[in-house]
Amino acid sequence: MSFSDFQEQKEIAAQLHHSLERGRLAHAYLFAGPRGSGKEAMARTLAKALNCSEKNHDSCERCDSCRRVEEGVHPDVYWVRPESKSRRIQIDQMREFMKSVNLRSSMGGVKVGIVVDADCMGEEAGNAFLKTLEEPPAQTVILLLTADPQRLLPTILSRCLRISFGPITAGVTSSYGARLSSLLTRFSTTPEERVSHSYRLLSELTTLLQEIRSETRARVEAELDLDRYEELEPKVRERLEDQMEARIEGEYRAAREQVLEEIYSWFGDLLLCAEGADDQLLAHPDQATTTRRVADGLTSPQACRNLEAIEQIRNALSRNISETLAFEVGLLKLIPKATTVAR
Ligand SMILES: [Zn+2]
Repeated sequence: MSFSDFQEQKEIAAQLHHSLERGRLAHAYLFAGPRGSGKEAMARTLAKALNCSEKNHDSCERCDSCRRVEEGVHPDVYWVRPESKSRRIQIDQMREFMKSVNLRSSMGGVKVGIVVDADCMGEEAGNAFLKTLEEPPAQTVILLLTADPQRLLPTILSRCLRISFGPITAGVTSSYGARLSSLLTRFSTTPEERVSHSYRLLSELTTLLQEIRSETRARVEAELDLDRYEELEPKVRERLEDQMEARIEGEYRAAREQVLEEIYSWFGDLLLCAEGADDQLLAHPDQATTTRRVADGLTSPQACRNLEAIEQIRNALSRNISETLAFEVGLLKLIPKATTVAR
Protein backbone atom coordinates (compact mmCIF):
# COMPACT_ATOMS: atom_id res chain seq x y z
CA MET A 1 0.00 0.00 0.00
CA SER A 2 1.19 3.50 -0.71
CA PHE A 3 0.26 6.44 1.55
CA SER A 4 -2.62 7.44 -0.72
CA ASP A 5 -4.19 3.98 -0.35
CA PHE A 6 -5.10 4.58 3.29
CA GLN A 7 -8.74 5.56 3.06
CA GLU A 8 -9.45 5.00 6.72
CA GLN A 9 -6.38 6.62 8.23
CA LYS A 10 -5.93 9.38 5.66
CA GLU A 11 -4.72 12.08 8.07
CA ILE A 12 -2.05 9.86 9.56
CA ALA A 13 -0.80 8.78 6.13
CA ALA A 14 -0.68 12.42 5.00
CA GLN A 15 1.11 13.48 8.18
CA LEU A 16 3.82 10.82 7.80
CA HIS A 17 4.21 11.51 4.10
CA HIS A 18 4.60 15.21 4.81
CA SER A 19 7.20 14.66 7.54
CA LEU A 20 9.12 12.39 5.15
CA GLU A 21 9.13 14.96 2.35
CA ARG A 22 10.47 17.62 4.69
CA GLY A 23 13.00 15.28 6.23
CA ARG A 24 11.41 15.83 9.61
CA LEU A 25 10.63 12.29 10.65
CA ALA A 26 11.03 11.58 14.38
CA HIS A 27 13.44 8.90 15.60
CA ALA A 28 10.70 6.95 17.30
CA TYR A 29 6.94 6.74 16.94
CA LEU A 30 4.27 5.11 19.00
CA PHE A 31 1.38 3.93 16.85
CA ALA A 32 -1.44 3.55 19.36
CA GLY A 33 -4.84 2.24 18.42
CA PRO A 34 -7.12 -0.78 18.57
CA ARG A 35 -6.48 -3.97 16.66
CA GLY A 36 -7.43 -3.75 13.03
CA SER A 37 -6.88 0.01 12.86
CA GLY A 38 -4.08 -0.30 10.30
CA LYS A 39 -1.01 0.24 12.47
CA GLU A 40 0.95 -2.62 10.92
CA ALA A 41 0.05 -1.65 7.36
CA MET A 42 1.09 1.94 8.07
CA ALA A 43 4.40 0.79 9.58
CA ARG A 44 5.06 -1.34 6.49
CA THR A 45 4.28 1.54 4.12
CA LEU A 46 6.55 3.88 6.06
CA ALA A 47 9.35 1.30 5.93
CA LYS A 48 8.88 1.02 2.15
CA ALA A 49 8.73 4.79 1.68
CA LEU A 50 11.98 5.24 3.59
CA ASN A 51 13.79 2.75 1.36
CA CYS A 52 12.01 2.91 -2.01
CA SER A 53 14.39 3.11 -5.00
CA GLU A 54 12.12 5.61 -6.74
CA LYS A 55 12.70 8.02 -3.88
CA ASN A 56 9.32 9.72 -4.00
CA HIS A 57 8.91 9.58 -0.22
CA ASP A 58 6.27 6.95 -0.78
CA SER A 59 6.06 3.29 -1.67
CA CYS A 60 6.14 2.50 -5.39
CA GLU A 61 5.10 -1.13 -4.68
CA ARG A 62 7.26 -2.28 -7.63
CA CYS A 63 10.93 -1.85 -6.83
CA ASP A 64 13.01 -4.59 -5.28
CA SER A 65 13.17 -2.78 -1.95
CA CYS A 66 9.40 -2.25 -1.68
CA ARG A 67 8.77 -5.87 -2.61
CA ARG A 68 11.19 -7.10 0.01
CA VAL A 69 9.55 -5.04 2.72
CA GLU A 70 6.18 -6.43 1.66
CA GLU A 71 7.45 -9.97 1.90
CA GLY A 72 9.06 -9.30 5.25
CA VAL A 73 12.58 -10.07 4.00
CA HIS A 74 14.12 -6.62 3.67
CA PRO A 75 17.52 -6.77 5.42
CA ASP A 76 17.16 -3.30 6.99
CA VAL A 77 13.60 -3.65 8.24
CA TYR A 78 13.41 -5.57 11.50
CA TRP A 79 10.22 -6.83 13.06
CA VAL A 80 9.75 -8.20 16.52
CA ARG A 81 6.48 -9.48 17.91
CA PRO A 82 5.19 -11.83 20.62
CA GLU A 83 5.84 -15.35 19.45
CA SER A 84 4.36 -17.68 21.96
CA LYS A 85 0.90 -18.14 23.37
CA SER A 86 2.06 -16.38 26.52
CA ARG A 87 2.13 -13.28 24.31
CA ARG A 88 5.38 -12.04 25.74
CA ILE A 89 8.21 -10.45 23.82
CA GLN A 90 11.13 -12.20 25.45
CA ILE A 91 14.29 -10.42 26.52
CA ASP A 92 16.33 -12.53 24.06
CA GLN A 93 14.10 -11.45 21.17
CA MET A 94 14.61 -7.83 22.22
CA ARG A 95 18.38 -8.23 22.46
CA GLU A 96 18.49 -9.74 18.98
CA PHE A 97 16.29 -6.91 17.69
CA MET A 98 18.50 -4.18 19.21
CA LYS A 99 21.62 -5.82 17.85
CA SER A 100 20.12 -5.74 14.33
CA VAL A 101 18.95 -2.14 14.66
CA ASN A 102 22.45 -1.09 15.67
CA LEU A 103 24.07 -2.75 12.63
CA ARG A 104 25.02 -0.75 9.56
CA SER A 105 22.34 -0.50 6.96
CA SER A 106 23.04 -3.23 4.42
CA MET A 107 21.26 -1.60 1.50
CA GLY A 108 22.32 1.96 2.29
CA GLY A 109 18.85 3.23 3.19
CA VAL A 110 17.15 3.94 6.48
CA LYS A 111 16.83 1.12 8.98
CA VAL A 112 13.40 0.57 10.44
CA GLY A 113 12.79 -1.35 13.66
CA ILE A 114 9.16 -2.28 14.30
CA VAL A 115 7.91 -3.66 17.61
CA VAL A 116 4.43 -5.14 17.16
CA ASP A 117 2.34 -5.33 20.37
CA ALA A 118 5.02 -3.38 22.19
CA ASP A 119 2.99 -3.66 25.40
CA CYS A 120 3.98 -7.34 25.46
CA MET A 121 7.55 -6.39 26.36
CA GLY A 122 8.01 -7.26 30.00
CA GLU A 123 9.77 -4.84 32.28
CA GLU A 124 13.15 -6.43 31.66
CA ALA A 125 12.82 -6.31 27.88
CA GLY A 126 11.40 -2.79 28.09
CA ASN A 127 14.26 -1.50 30.21
CA ALA A 128 16.83 -3.06 27.90
CA PHE A 129 15.09 -1.48 24.92
CA LEU A 130 15.11 1.93 26.58
CA LYS A 131 18.84 2.26 25.87
CA THR A 132 18.17 2.08 22.14
CA LEU A 133 15.53 4.78 22.44
CA GLU A 134 17.80 7.01 24.52
CA GLU A 135 20.66 6.74 22.07
CA PRO A 136 18.99 5.97 18.76
CA PRO A 137 21.37 4.65 16.10
CA ALA A 138 21.89 6.97 13.11
CA GLN A 139 19.62 6.61 10.07
CA THR A 140 17.12 4.56 12.03
CA VAL A 141 13.42 4.90 12.72
CA ILE A 142 11.80 2.92 15.54
CA LEU A 143 8.08 2.17 15.44
CA LEU A 144 6.26 0.85 18.48
CA LEU A 145 2.78 -0.53 17.79
CA THR A 146 0.30 -1.09 20.57
CA ALA A 147 -3.39 -1.40 21.34
CA ASP A 148 -2.69 -0.77 25.01
CA PRO A 149 -0.24 2.13 25.46
CA GLN A 150 -0.86 2.38 29.21
CA ARG A 151 0.99 -0.88 29.66
CA LEU A 152 4.23 0.55 28.30
CA LEU A 153 6.87 2.00 30.62
CA PRO A 154 6.37 5.77 30.98
CA THR A 155 10.05 6.27 30.13
CA ILE A 156 9.42 4.57 26.78
CA LEU A 157 6.24 6.54 26.09
CA SER A 158 8.01 9.82 26.76
CA ARG A 159 10.62 9.11 24.10
CA CYS A 160 8.21 8.40 21.26
CA LEU A 161 6.05 10.67 19.19
CA ARG A 162 2.56 9.32 19.61
CA ILE A 163 0.16 8.86 16.71
CA SER A 164 -3.35 7.74 17.58
CA PHE A 165 -5.15 5.38 15.22
CA GLY A 166 -8.92 5.45 15.53
CA PRO A 167 -10.89 2.22 15.22
CA ILE A 168 -11.94 1.20 11.71
CA THR A 169 -14.51 -1.44 12.50
CA ALA A 170 -17.29 -1.05 15.00
CA GLY A 171 -15.86 -4.06 16.79
CA VAL A 172 -17.19 -7.23 18.24
CA THR A 173 -20.07 -5.66 20.15
CA SER A 174 -21.71 -4.66 16.89
CA SER A 175 -22.08 -8.30 15.88
CA TYR A 176 -22.73 -9.77 19.33
CA GLY A 177 -24.27 -6.76 21.03
CA ALA A 178 -27.90 -7.76 20.59
CA ARG A 179 -27.31 -11.30 21.84
CA LEU A 180 -25.35 -10.06 24.79
CA SER A 181 -28.00 -7.61 25.90
CA SER A 182 -30.79 -10.17 25.60
CA LEU A 183 -28.67 -12.46 27.75
CA LEU A 184 -28.11 -9.72 30.34
CA THR A 185 -31.70 -8.56 30.53
CA ARG A 186 -32.62 -12.00 31.74
CA PHE A 187 -30.59 -11.26 34.85
CA SER A 188 -33.73 -10.87 36.87
CA THR A 189 -34.33 -13.61 39.31
CA THR A 190 -35.36 -14.55 42.79
CA PRO A 191 -32.80 -15.41 45.49
CA GLU A 192 -33.96 -19.05 45.40
CA GLU A 193 -32.88 -19.35 41.80
CA ARG A 194 -29.72 -17.36 42.26
CA VAL A 195 -27.15 -20.14 41.85
CA SER A 196 -28.84 -21.91 38.97
CA HIS A 197 -29.34 -18.57 37.28
CA SER A 198 -25.69 -17.61 37.65
CA TYR A 199 -24.66 -20.93 36.14
CA ARG A 200 -27.01 -20.41 33.23
CA LEU A 201 -25.53 -16.98 32.63
CA LEU A 202 -22.07 -18.52 32.88
CA SER A 203 -22.84 -21.24 30.36
CA GLU A 204 -24.37 -18.81 27.86
CA LEU A 205 -21.47 -16.40 28.19
CA THR A 206 -19.00 -19.23 27.77
CA THR A 207 -20.74 -20.30 24.57
CA LEU A 208 -20.66 -16.73 23.27
CA LEU A 209 -16.93 -16.40 24.02
CA GLN A 210 -16.19 -19.75 22.37
CA GLU A 211 -17.94 -18.54 19.24
CA ILE A 212 -15.94 -15.32 19.28
CA ARG A 213 -12.76 -17.33 19.70
CA SER A 214 -13.43 -19.65 16.79
CA GLU A 215 -14.53 -16.78 14.60
CA THR A 216 -11.31 -14.93 15.43
CA ARG A 217 -9.29 -18.04 14.59
CA ALA A 218 -11.04 -18.55 11.26
CA ARG A 219 -10.56 -14.91 10.29
CA VAL A 220 -6.86 -14.75 11.20
CA GLU A 221 -6.14 -18.12 9.57
CA ALA A 222 -7.81 -17.00 6.35
CA GLU A 223 -5.98 -13.70 6.42
CA LEU A 224 -2.51 -15.15 6.99
CA ASP A 225 -3.18 -18.19 4.83
CA LEU A 226 -0.03 -20.08 5.79
CA ASP A 227 -0.84 -22.80 3.25
CA ARG A 228 0.11 -20.47 0.44
CA TYR A 229 3.76 -21.13 1.34
CA GLU A 230 4.14 -24.61 0.01
CA GLU A 231 7.77 -25.28 0.64
CA LEU A 232 8.48 -23.76 3.99
CA GLU A 233 11.22 -25.17 6.17
CA PRO A 234 9.56 -26.82 9.16
CA LYS A 235 11.30 -24.42 11.53
CA VAL A 236 10.11 -21.34 9.69
CA ARG A 237 6.63 -22.76 9.46
CA GLU A 238 6.59 -23.48 13.15
CA ARG A 239 7.61 -19.89 13.87
CA LEU A 240 4.91 -18.49 11.61
CA GLU A 241 2.37 -20.74 13.32
CA ASP A 242 3.51 -19.51 16.73
CA GLN A 243 3.11 -15.92 15.58
CA MET A 244 -0.32 -16.72 14.26
CA GLU A 245 -1.37 -18.28 17.59
CA ALA A 246 -0.11 -15.21 19.43
CA ARG A 247 -2.14 -12.97 17.16
CA ILE A 248 -5.31 -15.06 17.55
CA GLU A 249 -4.89 -14.95 21.32
CA GLY A 250 -4.33 -11.19 21.25
CA GLU A 251 -7.34 -10.46 19.07
CA TYR A 252 -9.53 -12.80 21.08
CA ARG A 253 -8.56 -11.06 24.31
CA ALA A 254 -9.31 -7.66 22.81
CA ALA A 255 -12.77 -8.93 21.79
CA ARG A 256 -13.35 -10.46 25.23
CA GLU A 257 -12.43 -7.12 26.80
CA GLN A 258 -15.11 -5.48 24.68
CA VAL A 259 -17.67 -8.03 25.85
CA LEU A 260 -16.71 -7.36 29.47
CA GLU A 261 -16.87 -3.62 28.87
CA GLU A 262 -20.39 -4.07 27.59
CA ILE A 263 -21.40 -6.17 30.61
CA TYR A 264 -19.80 -3.63 32.92
CA SER A 265 -21.64 -0.71 31.39
CA TRP A 266 -24.92 -2.61 31.64
CA PHE A 267 -24.42 -3.36 35.34
CA GLY A 268 -23.41 0.30 35.69
CA ASP A 269 -26.82 1.23 34.27
CA LEU A 270 -28.49 -1.07 36.82
CA LEU A 271 -26.72 0.84 39.57
CA LEU A 272 -27.80 4.18 38.12
CA CYS A 273 -31.40 2.94 37.94
CA ALA A 274 -31.21 1.70 41.54
CA GLU A 275 -30.11 5.17 42.50
CA GLY A 276 -32.98 6.74 40.62
CA ALA A 277 -31.00 8.37 37.82
CA ASP A 278 -32.72 9.74 34.73
CA ASP A 279 -32.74 7.77 31.47
CA GLN A 280 -30.39 10.14 29.70
CA LEU A 281 -27.64 9.37 32.23
CA LEU A 282 -27.62 5.68 31.27
CA ALA A 283 -24.97 4.25 28.96
CA HIS A 284 -27.80 2.57 27.02
CA PRO A 285 -30.79 4.90 27.30
CA ASP A 286 -32.52 2.99 24.49
CA GLN A 287 -32.77 -0.05 26.78
CA ALA A 288 -33.96 1.95 29.77
CA THR A 289 -37.32 0.19 30.10
CA THR A 290 -35.77 -3.26 30.34
CA THR A 291 -32.96 -2.09 32.59
CA ARG A 292 -35.45 -0.46 34.96
CA ARG A 293 -37.51 -3.64 35.08
CA VAL A 294 -34.43 -5.67 36.04
CA ALA A 295 -33.28 -3.02 38.55
CA ASP A 296 -36.68 -2.89 40.21
CA GLY A 297 -36.23 -3.97 43.83
CA LEU A 298 -32.44 -3.91 43.67
CA THR A 299 -30.90 -1.62 46.30
CA SER A 300 -27.93 0.59 45.43
CA PRO A 301 -25.50 -1.28 47.72
CA GLN A 302 -26.52 -4.53 45.97
CA ALA A 303 -26.15 -2.99 42.53
CA CYS A 304 -22.80 -1.62 43.60
CA ARG A 305 -21.60 -5.05 44.71
CA ASN A 306 -22.70 -6.53 41.41
CA LEU A 307 -20.65 -3.96 39.56
CA GLU A 308 -17.67 -4.84 41.75
CA ALA A 309 -18.15 -8.51 40.91
CA ILE A 310 -17.85 -7.70 37.18
CA GLU A 311 -14.80 -5.53 37.87
CA GLN A 312 -13.24 -8.50 39.70
CA ILE A 313 -13.73 -10.69 36.62
CA ARG A 314 -11.84 -8.12 34.58
CA ASN A 315 -9.03 -7.88 37.09
CA ALA A 316 -8.74 -11.65 37.36
CA LEU A 317 -8.54 -12.01 33.56
CA SER A 318 -5.87 -9.33 33.31
CA ARG A 319 -3.83 -11.40 35.77
CA ASN A 320 -4.17 -14.41 33.46
CA ILE A 321 -6.37 -16.41 35.80
CA SER A 322 -8.29 -19.17 33.99
CA GLU A 323 -11.17 -17.65 32.08
CA THR A 324 -13.79 -20.14 33.27
CA LEU A 325 -12.73 -19.77 36.88
CA ALA A 326 -12.73 -15.97 36.71
CA PHE A 327 -16.25 -15.90 35.25
CA GLU A 328 -17.57 -18.58 37.59
CA VAL A 329 -16.29 -16.85 40.74
CA GLY A 330 -17.44 -13.43 39.55
CA LEU A 331 -20.91 -14.40 38.33
CA LEU A 332 -21.69 -16.39 41.47
CA LYS A 333 -21.16 -13.19 43.45
CA LEU A 334 -23.98 -11.45 41.64
CA ILE A 335 -26.84 -10.62 43.92
CA PRO A 336 -30.39 -10.75 42.63
CA LYS A 337 -33.09 -8.48 43.91
CA ALA A 338 -33.87 -9.00 47.59
CA THR A 339 -37.51 -8.09 47.61
CA THR A 340 -38.69 -11.68 47.44
CA VAL A 341 -36.60 -12.89 50.39
CA ALA A 342 -39.28 -12.51 53.02
CA ARG A 343 -42.16 -14.59 51.84
ZN1 LIG B 1 9.70 1.21 -4.27
